[in-house]
Amino acid sequence: MENQQLHELHEAHVRSFRAKMPVAPESKPPLSELQSTVVCRCRPLLPDHDNGSFQAVTTNGPNIYVHKEVSKAGLVNTTGKINSKKFQLHASTSDGDDQSIYDLFVQAVVEKSTAGGIGCVLAYGQTGAGKTHTIEAMMEIMFGTGIEIVAVSCFEIRSDEVHDLLNDGEELRVLTGAEGTDNIVGLKKVETVEGEVTEVVGRAKSLRSTASTNANDQSSRSHAFYTFFLPSGGSLTFVDLAGSENKADAISHSESENADERLKEMKEINKSLGDLKECIRLTLVNSKGGKQQHIPYRRSVLTRLLRTSLDVSPTSEVKTTFLCHVAPTRRSLPMTINSLNYAEQMVSATNAAREAA
Ligand code: ADP
Ligand code: MG
Repeated sequence: MENQQLHELHEAHVRSFRAKMPVAPESKPPLSELQSTVVCRCRPLLPDHDNGSFQAVTTNGPNIYVHKEVSKAGLVNTTGKINSKKFQLHASTSDGDDQSIYDLFVQAVVEKSTAGGIGCVLAYGQTGAGKTHTIEAMMEIMFGTGIEIVAVSCFEIRSDEVHDLLNDGEELRVLTGAEGTDNIVGLKKVETVEGEVTEVVGRAKSLRSTASTNANDQSSRSHAFYTFFLPSGGSLTFVDLAGSENKADAISHSESENADERLKEMKEINKSLGDLKECIRLTLVNSKGGKQQHIPYRRSVLTRLLRTSLDVSPTSEVKTTFLCHVAPTRRSLPMTINSLNYAEQMVSATNAAREAA
């Protein structure tokens, strides 16, 4: 059977799955009540990126379906039948509309910060799933609201090293202060007056993308932080996390002479993403009362620097949105499943804390 024919069969099965899908259920608990929201954003198919693929992911309110072809070991699937695996987060979207992502999932975080609290928007997912697109779009929409921002700092974490994106990528040290909080020594905090912030952030973004053309997509191998300081004393951080791909993918992306280095980097990225999840989980376990567990913030630079933003316990002044990005293609399905598994673990941690509150 021709690939193209099979492809059309798959597509037809996905279409009929969608036709039978019920109206999107309401999110439980309601989004407005969530202090920490976990959302799946599936980017649209891109003609020049995903040639010939079809939407192998369907989003429906909090439910996300991943359509895998049914195949018996060793046999070619000639029916195009699909098996639709369901994941459940707080919400999901796949229409590619940045403004509605902002309105539904980011605006409330910004409001928390303008009221003096700590807001954090994190983009997670495999390389090419749209993390940088979302973070940049969210910042632009926010600037367009006329929000007053008094200062900005931008840095990235690459192989556990911190580089200042507003100071030529200078490497900086992280030190623990007397109160136990971690600070980046000498990080530039650029004061901004009205209208300047777009230009300042533009400098940081272009430093990040220059590095990426020089050396084999560096940007997907670093966690980038953009922090905005507000007149209220609150702050808002956008984090564009490093790509969450697995080892095999990481190696296939790089030239063979870089494979060792790339593997080491990947291990560190995956470790820091694992630490992130564990810190959130334990913060929420602790918020239930009972015997307090040690939270291993110190395990990686990522968690040391996110420490305050990760305290999403019911009594804190923190609000976060975790945007789990997936690509809609069949080829991405293994990574998509990984990413959604990770996101589901985030949801169960936050829901457990809510129920206990
Ligand atoms: P990542 O940062 O996760 O590696 P990118 O943000 O660079 O991914 O996105 C990969 C490609 O997909 C880019 O060409 C980007 O412009 C495009 N893209 C991502 N999200 C969207 C979207 N919501 N609408 C249109 N194009 C998108
Ligand atoms: Mg990116």
